[in-house]
Amino acid sequence: SKAPVIAVDGPGGSGKGTITQMLAQKLGWHLLDSGALYRLTALAAMRQGVSFDDEEGLVRVASSLDVTFEPTPAGQPAKVLLAGEDVTSEIRTETCGDNASRVAVMQPVRDALLQRQRDFRQAPGLVADGRDMGTVVFPDAPVKIFLTASAEERARRRFNQLKEAGVDVNIDALLEEIRVRDERDMNRSAAPLRPADDAQVIDSTGLSIEEVLDRCMAAAGQA
Ligand code: C5P
Repeated sequence: SKAPVIAVDGPGGSGKGTITQMLAQKLGWHLLDSGALYRLTALAAMRQGVSFDDEEGLVRVASSLDVTFEPTPAGQPAKVLLAGEDVTSEIRTETCGDNASRVAVMQPVRDALLQRQRDFRQAPGLVADGRDMGTVVFPDAPVKIFLTASAEERARRRFNQLKEAGVDVNIDALLEEIRVRDERDMNRSAAPLRPADDAQVIDSTGLSIEEVLDRCMAAAGQA
């Protein structure tokens, strides 16, 4: 029988990354950061000089991605290697996120990444972070969570993260980028961002990380 999956979907900046890392650690389960695969596809395409209009080229890049997620000390994000090179911080930039959402609108690119994502489903279980984990990749997941937060709150969180990292940014520009990416993710025809019919929606606006984690653990109790 198949290992259980907790599918966590939602817009960027909703806290999914932090929450899914904590959930996976608490449960001792595997973690899939599916957004990283789209970010890596965008980065590898840029490096190989493949244009974002070249769908066939992008499919080739996605199918041949040489990626390793290297475990790090408990609670820290995995190190991401592209053809052996550490690109952990490079794939986190706003540019890479924006380019990821451009390649992610193409159904053939999504198809090329599908099996790779499903391969993460292994005992004792998987926490899967993305936009279409509950709707497309793991439609039979026993637990589905849709994590949201207002765009303003997500911009504020991102602003604080970047400030801590010493990056100087304008919060209004961040809010605008978040809105543009949400629009693209929700309005595309290929696997648009939306809660699965059987997902539990958790709005993290105004909640602490601990409060969100508690709610997710309660939901995960059903896995
Ligand atoms: O979650 P993250 O911000 O890393 O994702 C980057 C982009 O990749 C998203 O804006 C979205 O367009 C795309 N993505 C997707 N499906 C997923 C995960 C990410 O389309 N399962």
